This record gives sequence, C-alpha cells and structure tokens, in this order.
Amino acid sequence: MDKSNGLRVILFPLPLQGCISPMLQLANILHSRGFSITVVHTRFNAPKASSHPLFTFLEIPDGLSETQIKDDPTSNVLSLVEQININAESPFRDCLQKLLVQESERVSCLIDDCGWLFTQSVAESLNLPRLVLSTFKATFLNAYPIFPRILTKGYFSLSDWEAEDSVLEFPPLLKRDHSWLFREDGEKLNQFFDTVVKNTMRSSGLLFMSCEELEKDSLTLAKETFMVPVFAIGPFHSYFSASSSSLFRQDDTCIHWLDNQDDKSVIYVSLGSVVNITKTEFLEIAWGLSNSKQCFLWVLRPGLVLGAEWNELFSEGLLRSLEEKGKIVKWSPQEEVLAHRAVGGFLTHNGWNSTLESICEGVPMICLPGGSDQMLNARFVSDVWRVGIHLEGKIERKEIEKAVRMLMVESEGKKIRERMNVMKDEVGRSVKNGGSSLRSIETLVNHILSL
Ligand code: UDP
Repeated sequence: MDKSNGLRVILFPLPLQGCISPMLQLANILHSRGFSITVVHTRFNAPKASSHPLFTFLEIPDGLSETQIKDDPTSNVLSLVEQININAESPFRDCLQKLLVQESERVSCLIDDCGWLFTQSVAESLNLPRLVLSTFKATFLNAYPIFPRILTKGYFSLSDWEAEDSVLEFPPLLKRDHSWLFREDGEKLNQFFDTVVKNTMRSSGLLFMSCEELEKDSLTLAKETFMVPVFAIGPFHSYFSASSSSLFRQDDTCIHWLDNQDDKSVIYVSLGSVVNITKTEFLEIAWGLSNSKQCFLWVLRPGLVLGAEWNELFSEGLLRSLEEKGKIVKWSPQEEVLAHRAVGGFLTHNGWNSTLESICEGVPMICLPGGSDQMLNARFVSDVWRVGIHLEGKIERKEIEKAVRMLMVESEGKKIRERMNVMKDEVGRSVKNGGSSLRSIETLVNHILSL
C-alpha cells in the first residue's frame, strides 16, 4: 500500500454477489492509494471480514427474517432491494452518525451502490459527500431517465417481425428484449428509476466499472445526463480479484479438471448468482450440452432451478452422458476458470461482472440473458461488438447444441474469437500505464482528496 493519506472512505454495498465484489475491489483500489476503508454491510449476505483483514467491517440490521433468508430473497431482486431500502435506512443513519464522531481519521466520503435510495439524503444531512457506484454498464444507467417513457410503449405482445426492430429510444435494444427487461410492477419501477436519477444528480460523482475503450459515448452521455464528475476506472478485477469476496464456497476441483483438457476445448456455463430457470429450461440446457459433444464445465448453483434443490432432476442416463464430457460444480472460481487456457467459450447470462471478466480473458460468449441490464449487455456482445452468439431466449436443446458447436468448432466461431482477441487487447490497454482507466483512477483519487 502507498503511505496512508490519513483519510477514510466508507463503502456500503448492496447485499448481492454482483454488487459486493465490485465494492470490495474498489475498496482495494482506494486502499492501495492510501485511504483507510470502512465497509458498512447488511447482515444478509455479509461479506467475509476475515478475507479482508486491512478493512474495518460494520454490520447493520436489515430486518429480514430467518424464514425470508432461508427462502432466498435474491429470487426477486427488486422486491429485496425495495425491502432492505426501507429496513436499513435508520440503522445506516445511526451507524454513519456514530462513525463520523468516533473516527480518528477524517472521513472524506461515502461511496455506495446506486441501488441504495436513502443514502444521498442521509449523507447530505450529515454533510458528508457521497459518490455513487454503478454496477451496470454506463449505457444502462443512462437509460434510467427514459425507462418510464419506454415502459409506457408496451412492446409486449408483438408479432415476430415487429419484435426484431430496435427500441428507438434505446438502441441497440430490440423490442423483443423489452418484455424481459423488467418483469415487475411498472409504477414501482418508475419510482425507483426516478429516485436513482435524482439522487445521482445530487451526488459528488459517479463511478463505473468500465472504460472508454468499451463505451466512450455512453460515458460522455453519463456526464451530461447526471451532471456530476464521472469516473470509468476499468474492469475492477483487472486490479484485484473478486475471489476473496465470494459469498459461495468455490469448488477448486474444476481447475484440476481443466488442467487435463485441451486448449480452448471447454465451454464454461454459468448463469451468475441470482438468475433462475425452470425445470424444463434446465433439462434443455443439459441435453443441448450433451448433444453438442463438446467438453463443458457447468456451474449448477443450488437454487438455480426453480423448485429443485440441486441436480436431482438428472436421470441416471442423462447424468452418465453429461459426465462423459463435462464437469458440474455448485460454484466456481470464475475469474480463474475464464483465464484457463482450456476454456474456449462462455455460455453466460451476461451480468456485467461476468461480461467484463469474459472480455478481459478474450473468451467469446453465448448469450442467455435473464432480464434487466443483462438484456442490454447481451445485445452489445452479440450485435455491437460481435463477440458472441445470442440465443434469443430460445432455451431449446437444438439451439443450444447449434450455438455451442458454432462457437467451439465452426468457422463462424473462429471469426468471433478473432474479434474478441482484438477487444481483449483494447480493454487490456486501458488498465496499463498511461491507459484511460488508470488515468481515471488518479483523477478519482484527486477528486476524493479535494472533497
Ligand atoms: N461467479 C463466481 N463463480 C461462479 C459464478 C459466478 O465467482 O460460479 C462470480 C463472477 O465471477 C462474477 C459474479 O459472480 O464476478 C457474478 O456477477 P454478475 O454481475 O456477472 O452476475 P449476477 O450474479 O449479479 O447476476
């Protein structure tokens, strides 16, 4: 670490894997620049403090009951976010108030997730500057002010040819992506978007895990939309691994299994930490993988399949056929997997972390987004950057087999891989000396010092 600069930053992640990892990576980035770090977190999905001995961790109550936690509240993310926003406000205020009085070092700012709706007001009432971390691609956050307008358009029951059109207000999204974008109550969503936009505009800055090489125009637009300083400090895992902030136990046996496979011969399959699929979809994926005759490593997260515990849905025959070519684990060390020489493709739900991790390792993708920002990320991967194949929501064995074979063995896959290698190099340059992301970190550090 650089010499301590005598300043402390308070971080407050949303309790979801895809939000906790970036926040702790950011903590490491700031700590390496001399800041002391306090992480305030909810009891639910609390990060493992022992994996981060350099930071101070403070837990606040979140009001979730044992039954709610046992039933996995992440199966409805919006409702979870809504509830903890109500429950955590007062404990967070008390905690912050105490911290500001007790800390021997000056607290320079609060940095928290854009999904916390009360933190801007709390920070203002305590005269503490707040910076916002977006765990979305900038293009997605930029669309928050226009979502209410798009939602009223109702692109829900469209004929096939209409569904192919772009959403005029929000390219490259197609109308057919729209019915999956948000499957929640429109009025609730509008309020949510409105609050996030207004809060971000009152903040002291906006941080993205992104870089100019990926979305220069969107970053420029973010500055105009939110009218605050914007910092695109790169794919965070390029500086510090997310592994130590994993909420699930990683099964490292998959790395030894990969060691025994040929170069670029394995398709890695993971749908992240919150997406759910039906039993039918699950079996279609299983048969598609088996019929593709390609090697695969599949993360079958307990709870992924609605109504099932884990792998009890496999018949003996299917399991035997899968085990001939594949390995199934409950949770993997994903960054290590994607960096492994044996991995040649990634069937992904296109969460922003997973998408970035895949780009940074030059692994082309098969896109199976489950909703929200994943719909947009997938469109960028398949239609704009052309570094992946979109399944277009068809979770059918034939489609999966076709996409896997196309990516892993056919000439089209070779072209996609070549484009991905170019993209990997461009994004990689942004985190090297003189690169846009590193420059942005320096600007961010100076900005925090000036607050
Ligand atoms: N991840 C992992 N092991 C797995 C699956 C996922 O470590 O088996 C990590 C992955 O590297 C990423 C995060 O979990 O950093 C998932 O975040 P993302 O934004 O991709 O999706 P979300 O889970 O939020 O939908």
